[in-house]
Amino acid sequence: MLIGFGTYPLKGSQCEKAVGSALKLGYRMIDTATFYENFLPIKAAISGYKRHEIAITSKVWPDSQTPELLEEDLKNTLKQLDTAYIDDYLLHWPNSRLPIKDVFVTLNYFKEQGLVKRIGLSNVTVNHVRRAFELNAKIDTVQIEMNPLFYDPNLLAYCHENKLILQAWWPLAHGSVMKNELLSRLSNKYKKTNAQISLRWIIQHSAIPLPGSSNEHHQKENLNVFDFSLSEEDMAEINHMASRGTRLRMRESDGFGFSDEFDYAYEDCWPR
Ligand code: NAD
Repeated sequence: MLIGFGTYPLKGSQCEKAVGSALKLGYRMIDTATFYENFLPIKAAISGYKRHEIAITSKVWPDSQTPELLEEDLKNTLKQLDTAYIDDYLLHWPNSRLPIKDVFVTLNYFKEQGLVKRIGLSNVTVNHVRRAFELNAKIDTVQIEMNPLFYDPNLLAYCHENKLILQAWWPLAHGSVMKNELLSRLSNKYKKTNAQISLRWIIQHSAIPLPGSSNEHHQKENLNVFDFSLSEEDMAEINHMASRGTRLRMRESDGFGFSDEFDYAYEDCWPR
């Protein structure tokens, strides 16, 4: 799967309609989470398709990351989506207050039982993934913010070395890529939109972008990124810009700028 469809903050009939049109256009991977409260509309939208034709990523919120609550979360997720398994089941944000060892035992067990095909982490650094491997977690997938205005090259390289699937959330920096000068210049050069240049940059890094939109025109535009390639020089120029950026959540200029509850530089990610 080379591109996925992001569903936050779509809910109810708007979500069902957006996922329905994304599937019709050819998207086959849907990103959701317990926190999004949209399992039921997604279930309705995928009901006309064979289950194996569609990949679903879901994520469990930090307050449910104990073995008991994880079981409850997965049970509810499967029930509401009316499916026997989830393709990628991730910890949405790491909860550094919890002893993590048993959580990984539980996630590994879900995988052995076929209730999830792959397990993984979201919003992490290399430190977390290393620590997860030390604790024998059979991690397959990592989902992080990645866009031309911010990326974590260390984590990207680590994912490639360890053959981990990398899913990129906020691939359009929540819309900020539309007004970026470098991307506008490349947009003119390649006759593609800023959004398409951004998605292509992610795909050429062998990561899976998860763009979201309820606008069918944008959904179609975001799929139309497989008929051109960015040159090595242009990739390098975007890399340079992205490596100097900060996570969008931390950028006041974009109206977010709340101090994060999660310390990305944390060396010892979970209590020993
Ligand atoms: P995004 O970077 O995909 O940007 C979406 C914004 O850009 C929307 O306002 C949309 O209307 C607009 N847009 C989309 N395509 C466009 C186009 N071609 N031209 C112009 N505008 C366009 O950000 P997002 O949708 O917030 O995030 C994508 C997905 O990532 C979410 O839906 C969710 O599934 C996932 N996500 C995961 C986490 C996490 O913690 N793991 C956090 C945030 C989002």
